[in-house]
Amino acid sequence: MTTYYRRDGHSRPTTPPVGNRSSLTLEEYLKKGLGNTPVTRTTSVTYLGMKINDKLTWWPHIQDKIKKAKHLLRRSNDTFGRLWGPKPTMVKWLLDAVVAPKLLYGSHVWHSMIGTRKVQDALHQINRLGIISVAPSRLRTPTRGMEIILGTTPLHLKAERKNILTLTRFRMHHPDTPVVGHTRAIMDTMAMTGLAGFPLDDIPVTTTPTLFRTYIGSPPPEDPGVRWVKIDTKVAVTVTDSIVSIYTDGSKMENTRGNQWGTGAGFAIFLGQDDVPIVDNPPVVQSHFNICHSYTVFLAEVLAIDRALRSYHEARKAGTIPFPRAILIHSDSQAAILALNNSDIHSKVVLACKRLLNVTATLTPLHLSWVKAHASSHRNNWVDGLAKAGATQDTDMGPFPRADIPLSFLKKVIRDRQQDRWGEEWTAHPTCRQTKLWLPAPNPGLSRAVLLLDRVELGRIIRWLTGHNFLRRHCQIVDPDRYQSDRCRLCRLEPETAAHILADCMALDYNRLADMKETHLVPPYRWSLGRLLRFLDPLADQMEDTEAAARMITVRARFGTRTTLLERIAVINDTLQLDPP
Ligand SMILES: [Zn+2]
Repeated sequence: MTTYYRRDGHSRPTTPPVGNRSSLTLEEYLKKGLGNTPVTRTTSVTYLGMKINDKLTWWPHIQDKIKKAKHLLRRSNDTFGRLWGPKPTMVKWLLDAVVAPKLLYGSHVWHSMIGTRKVQDALHQINRLGIISVAPSRLRTPTRGMEIILGTTPLHLKAERKNILTLTRFRMHHPDTPVVGHTRAIMDTMAMTGLAGFPLDDIPVTTTPTLFRTYIGSPPPEDPGVRWVKIDTKVAVTVTDSIVSIYTDGSKMENTRGNQWGTGAGFAIFLGQDDVPIVDNPPVVQSHFNICHSYTVFLAEVLAIDRALRSYHEARKAGTIPFPRAILIHSDSQAAILALNNSDIHSKVVLACKRLLNVTATLTPLHLSWVKAHASSHRNNWVDGLAKAGATQDTDMGPFPRADIPLSFLKKVIRDRQQDRWGEEWTAHPTCRQTKLWLPAPNPGLSRAVLLLDRVELGRIIRWLTGHNFLRRHCQIVDPDRYQSDRCRLCRLEPETAAHILADCMALDYNRLADMKETHLVPPYRWSLGRLLRFLDPLADQMEDTEAAARMITVRARFGTRTTLLERIAVINDTLQLDPP
């Protein structure tokens, strides 16, 4: 049992008074206090923003954070209405950028509690409060359905992702720290990505000098052989008049459907500066190789320079290349050149390449120059072909696959994994039957488009996709005394649900064909937001008008893509006469 002490009138706890405690009982000791201030017993203490209690559980801390987040969201929700207020994107931003970071501050220490139902339910409530004011929706619209429509990732999944990245960054700086306690729990979650414990290409910032020259947008000097690094060497070398020109390129193919898939790099070493057609002056040495798919194009470009230099030194040793006056390396990646020129390096691949460049530069003046990609340079186009050949090569000739994965790749894998988990939880969730017809899995692109709608249209989408709307079926569930019939007011054949109106009400076949390009939809629905809104536009307000019980609904049916308008008002009025007032 841990006990903390607090001086009355002070919010911060203090350590017990120093003194000879052994002669006093605890009670006497407490009574004595600090000077004349009495010391009282307390069961929790806040340290670095984390509330620690005497039972050493994090639940009181989480409760406290949730309470504060709810307070913040209620305050912001009170300042605007459902139909007016900040843009929906701003409301979501408030949740993502203000509330979530406050709530999940230090969440890595309570990672093992994220899997519990209690915590997850509480976090879903926060998400609900964050998005409920985004548009007019019915009171009991399910939280999970709204989360899927608006693309609001459940906070427990967000916390998991954040915690994995926190642990990864921590281990980048302290690789030897043993995995125990809460780090073990995070490591277990990370194991699901298949990348737990993989060494990272990212390293803490390392400062290095730059002994070579770089040129972006300006040509290398007329005479590249002028030295600027003074070397005191006892090795006598015979410098020839020749200049070595190295061209390098990296390539990444993302087409997963065909065989155009992989990351590769290529280089070619030429003698002489003149950019003549390859047949007139073929490369002395050239190669291409396939590298780990986790590598970005940027890393492929840097690795190409590294490999080219290694080959250059081998060829020099073998005597294939004479000792040159200067070396000119051409790359079409400004990012690679800038990173190599930077004194602060935070990637193992870049650091290794820079060290090699520096060593080479102490022997021969070295210039790293940018060349425009896919332009008139014969040599650049040549290595571009080599890099592409490397990317599509079957056998892996490069470094051991997954030797060191870049942090960017890990982030991507975690993001994908989070999306998959969300999809799994969504499918397994027992309710939201109607929303699942439209959105069987999270759809970030659609959610982005939905958030750009105005509040009226956004509310319409939420109500019609979740089924929690003002149509007869739902009205009857909510208020069976007032709404005795749940039959569709247009066809009188089936219960009037959103899915019925949108997908298969016979009375609207023409409208559906004109706006959604299908007479009726079968699950899983193929639909687009624009078409759905166009279909709903003449209908939604009339059908959701709860006062319109006895009134007639005028539906203008359109047919074909031409301007022919087929007025079906008469037909529908006939149907509506059956509706009891
Ligand atoms: Zn109908």
